[in-house]
Amino acid sequence: MSGKLIISVSGVRGIVGEQLTPIAALEYACAFGKFLRETVTVKDKRIRVCIGRDTRRSGRMLASAVMSGLTAVGVDVIDLSVVTTPGVGIMTRHLGCSGGMVITASHNPAQFNGIKLLLSNGVAPTPRLLERIKKVYYDKSFDFVGSEDVGQLSFNESTDSNHIAAILKTVDKEKIRAKDLKVVLDCINGAGARVTKKLLKELGCCFVAINDEPTGIFAHPSEPLAENLGGLCERVKQEKAQIGFAQDPDADRLAVVDETGRYVGEEYTLVLAAKAVLRQKSGPIATNLSSSRMVDDITGQFGVKVIRTPVGEANVVAAMLENNCIIGGEGNGGVIDLRVVPVRDSLVGMALILHLIADTDKTISELADDIPAYFMIKEKFPADESQVQEVLSVATKDFSNAKIDTTDGCRFDFEDGWIHLRASNTEPVMRAIIEAKDRQTAEKYLGKIKQIRSKVVGSRD
Ligand code: MG
Repeated sequence: MSGKLIISVSGVRGIVGEQLTPIAALEYACAFGKFLRETVTVKDKRIRVCIGRDTRRSGRMLASAVMSGLTAVGVDVIDLSVVTTPGVGIMTRHLGCSGGMVITASHNPAQFNGIKLLLSNGVAPTPRLLERIKKVYYDKSFDFVGSEDVGQLSFNESTDSNHIAAILKTVDKEKIRAKDLKVVLDCINGAGARVTKKLLKELGCCFVAINDEPTGIFAHPSEPLAENLGGLCERVKQEKAQIGFAQDPDADRLAVVDETGRYVGEEYTLVLAAKAVLRQKSGPIATNLSSSRMVDDITGQFGVKVIRTPVGEANVVAAMLENNCIIGGEGNGGVIDLRVVPVRDSLVGMALILHLIADTDKTISELADDIPAYFMIKEKFPADESQVQEVLSVATKDFSNAKIDTTDGCRFDFEDGWIHLRASNTEPVMRAIIEAKDRQTAEKYLGKIKQIRSKVVGSRD
């Protein structure tokens, strides 16, 4: 046994058999079920929750525990089986459920798993509501119902068709079909394979899928980063494909490889998808404070506003709903299109990027090269909460010439770049995201942060 189960706004995460046991999953589901029963009014008085899972080997075991917990507190369950995270968001709304639960640890290694909660609108609970659920979980203040009130279990297999139908409304299918595009797809043996292949077929793409077995045995480290996608880059070249796509295990993140086999980078995913939407209509875009300045460049070109939010999908979605954003997301390859689902969705990202290729008649390398390039560094340093605060306060004095945003840690904007410093939500570290016009400038800013940090940590030792 090591460490505590982590419950954050992004969901529960833990190593299976250590922090994340069937008992923890069952009790967490009981807490969510009780919360829904107390807060939701449903006409027929039956609270329903749909459950989906990614392909991890522990998924079925944890899903069974979660279903037991929900039904034991009187909640009906609809089992969607293996589906993507955005798929659960779509079905929660489509089936009129009061909530959704996704069994996934996203891009974490295979020994991890997790549970993500969604409310009836497909959005994760706000931090305030999550605190209520956590309190029920820690106090174990839920009651089991008697035999006649036990929740009932049913199954539904229409997630893929609902997901694809929603996506097809956002793009010009015939225009994409007319291009006869060849795509290589790396699904990391995760939840995205089945539905993504159906979508690409619908879009008339000729595709080669690699790592597309739903085994949950990840063929490479599961974050869609350059260092993990050598196989995909090679295959795109070999197949003479127009584009390569990589998903993470629950298919909410998307990375792009161009026709020369070059990893374009996750930061480009949102920018390219945003460009596709902005060519169709005008409106604001929301993204978090750690996402690239490329988003400001593209919104600047189209004369629309960008709204910057604290890091975390729930924060971006809240800003999108509040400001009627036409698209939003995060620089980690997470595209959110409210026309489909208020959840990051690699499938809508793919469809929009394919639409952009068809609509502009440009290659993906040309489209990426049209966007001004920056150099980004993502670093993390061990730091407790008070050290993070000290670093932020020294940095605020040292960078007094910058434009400062303190919505989530501190973001310092300079003419030639920016720095975002914040405490991690999930581990005792400080994250530093630095982006500048070139490597040398980014490294200069990193050097300054390191100096400030050693001043703070040094003064403690
Ligand atoms: Mg994910």
